[in-house]
Amino acid sequence: MLVRFWGTRGSLPVAPTAGTIRQKIVAALLSARTFTNASEAGDFVDRELGFAAGATYGGATPCVELEAGDGAYILCDMGSGLRAFGLDSMRRNGEGHRKTYNFFLSHLHWDHIMGFPFFVPAFDPTATIRIHAAHPDAETALRRQQEEISFPVPFDWLRANIEFVQLNPGESYEIDGVRVETARQQHSHVSYGYRFTDVDGRTVIYSTDSEHKPDNMEDEATFIQFFHEADLVICDTMYSLADSVSMKEDWGHSSNLVAIDLCHEAKAKCLALFHHEPTYEDEDIQRMHEESIRYEELTRNGPPLTVICAYDGLEVRL
Ligand SMILES: [Zn+2]
Ligand SMILES: [Zn+2]
Repeated sequence: MLVRFWGTRGSLPVAPTAGTIRQKIVAALLSARTFTNASEAGDFVDRELGFAAGATYGGATPCVELEAGDGAYILCDMGSGLRAFGLDSMRRNGEGHRKTYNFFLSHLHWDHIMGFPFFVPAFDPTATIRIHAAHPDAETALRRQQEEISFPVPFDWLRANIEFVQLNPGESYEIDGVRVETARQQHSHVSYGYRFTDVDGRTVIYSTDSEHKPDNMEDEATFIQFFHEADLVICDTMYSLADSVSMKEDWGHSSNLVAIDLCHEAKAKCLALFHHEPTYEDEDIQRMHEESIRYEELTRNGPPLTVICAYDGLEVRL
């Protein structure tokens, strides 16, 4: 199974400013030396400069692709990252890829659906788009964001064969070669997590926009079960713990530390920090990643959990 992150930012798309890019270049020049070729310089960026100075986590909102099952596309959410995926899939379709798109929506907040009006394959009459959601109002939300008052192209102008599929939380489904299960999550207007298992038994959890309260034991037991021995857990870690238990309690998101605790209990193998706070700079996200790795080492009481930090363009092979 291959997991490809097209959008990893929460709430609102962001882009680095001129000042941010300048800061990165100044940092690079200060620590640079003379290189004889591009590959030497590339090694220096990768090994010595650090991710925040040499790259960026990106600013597109949630969209994650799974390459699994029998060749249909599988996508979690339709954030602004969907635009780039759509263009890339047109290229792959030209090389003979099957034009079936299975979407799985966590919920209907703007940051998770705003990419759909810019999804070019929706205009392809030979494409099939199946939008799976546990929310009965998914179609209403998608049609509403393309009403004339908000967008120039109405939903009815789309030419693909578009179907809405309502999922029942707690049931297990076989969809194009992948087993799919859902879990209800604590969030404004409710959100749903997904557990995907391929024929080889590889398991990925997509659990975003989910608030876990450290003192809610029943919620904890549900998610320990849902994350059980997963190969990868993509988890909403929008806030630091200090933020999430003080001023941002009840905002519907979770912290990196709570996610690590749940993954430890569930004996998951890898955690991807996800749904990054839009006001965080790359340095802030990198610091949170480093703190998460340290916290994981300090609290480990069983097999190690690898903690990675999702960024736009990251690919993880399981
Ligand atoms: Zn969100
Ligand atoms: Zn949300």
